[in-house]
Amino acid sequence: MPMKLNVGDVVKLKKKHPCGGYDWEILRIGADFRIKCTTCQRQVWLPRSEVERRITKIVSTTDVSDDNNKSHE
Ligand SMILES: [Zn+2]
Repeated sequence: MPMKLNVGDVVKLKKKHPCGGYDWEILRIGADFRIKCTTCQRQVWLPRSEVERRITKIVSTTDVSDDNNKSHE
């Protein structure tokens, strides 16, 4: 099942960062993801497959519910 991830999402990864943090913010999405440790602010690149495999939980999502409904006037 492909995961629905957006820039700005915060995810919890299986592997602990050396600083002790588990939560990462997604900064950039592509073949490689750029993610930032929310504990120490360090940024790393990880292949998408790695990120998806390591995610244990999506902490917060910026799921933008398209509210483009213009008024019917
Ligand atoms: Zn860290």
